[in-house]
Amino acid sequence: MTQIKETLQTLEPLFQWFHRHPELALSEFETTKKIKQVLTKHAIELLPNPLDTGVFAKIGGKHDGPLIALRADIDALPINEESGLPYSSEYPNRMHACGHDFHLTNLLATAIELKKIEDELNGTVLLIFQPAEEVDHGADKVVQTGILEGVEAIFGLHVNTELRAGVVGIKEGNLNAAVDRFFVSFTGKGGHAAHPEDANDVIVATGQLIGAAQSIVSRNISPFEPGVVSITHIEAGKTWNVLPSTSLLEGTVRSYAPSVRGQIKARLQEVTRGIAATNGISGAFKWVDGAPAVVNDRRLTKLVASVAKEQNFDVVPLNPSMGGEDFSSYQQVIPGTFFNVGVSSDYPVHNSKFKADPKAFETSVPLFIALVKAYFERGLSDGETLLS
Ligand SMILES: [Zn+2]
Ligand SMILES: [Zn+2]
Repeated sequence: MTQIKETLQTLEPLFQWFHRHPELALSEFETTKKIKQVLTKHAIELLPNPLDTGVFAKIGGKHDGPLIALRADIDALPINEESGLPYSSEYPNRMHACGHDFHLTNLLATAIELKKIEDELNGTVLLIFQPAEEVDHGADKVVQTGILEGVEAIFGLHVNTELRAGVVGIKEGNLNAAVDRFFVSFTGKGGHAAHPEDANDVIVATGQLIGAAQSIVSRNISPFEPGVVSITHIEAGKTWNVLPSTSLLEGTVRSYAPSVRGQIKARLQEVTRGIAATNGISGAFKWVDGAPAVVNDRRLTKLVASVAKEQNFDVVPLNPSMGGEDFSSYQQVIPGTFFNVGVSSDYPVHNSKFKADPKAFETSVPLFIALVKAYFERGLSDGETLLS
């Protein structure tokens, strides 16, 4: 523990460096360079990474044992920082407002500590510093590199502003919803606002679609299954006396069950087609798959809970959220669990005044280390193995 405290002290300037230098998704070049520098300085083996940003590294493997992965995301957000921190972002409109600087520093500290006991580890730890969590499907890109081959389980964490430092939040099963995006456009014959009988009114059609889309969750989906349809962007027309010929709508769908996800997509498509037909116009529908739902493995979640309790951290249950998290992409391939550590912020993540309490490293780093050791030493908490 004393040793960890020393590492934490040396890591505080590093955390501050990452906080000062936030980089947006797929542009995390300086961040990547810095992570590599720190790992190399501690003689931690870097693995080849075909992506432009992000880092893969490895510790252990001296003895036979399982291969497990720890993941941290590294990208920032296009937000102008107003936290008042002495180590605020040096760039306008860029901020580590989701705590990914905390996540990556936590993983670096964990790596440094694990390296010190590498010879004793009964297994191998893969470190994944993942680019582009906020947008651009970073986790998918990492999975596509094939780096998860042979990995038995994956762990990741996120800062939680509603919990104080020292508290660990866990949840088995559903934690974060699937996040999808859709677009609808209507095209008809524009015309004079005074003569609607000679034109098609795509604005009326757009209004009908907004109403009809809101009946999908209430009328087509079981009340026992969560789902959200939000329309967030509308464009049509430029002035007061012209009926425009096109309109555009954009929005997001959130769900857990893959069947609900498919049902909402299909209904939105049918409603678009139906409204276009009713109005004598053409309608186009486009759906963009985002991250699937985060569904935490029961056995791994129990392991996190028991290890956290052994370390005398408070463990609380988390509520599921309709917000997304692309950790789910790993869980499509291997079992994993995603948990939270409290960072006591008065402002939520994605807010310009968000700040993570660095004291939370005193929880997250020992927890990650203990988790790795527990997995290697005794398997899963209830004696089951993942492969059973
Ligand atoms: Zn975020
Ligand atoms: Zn985040």
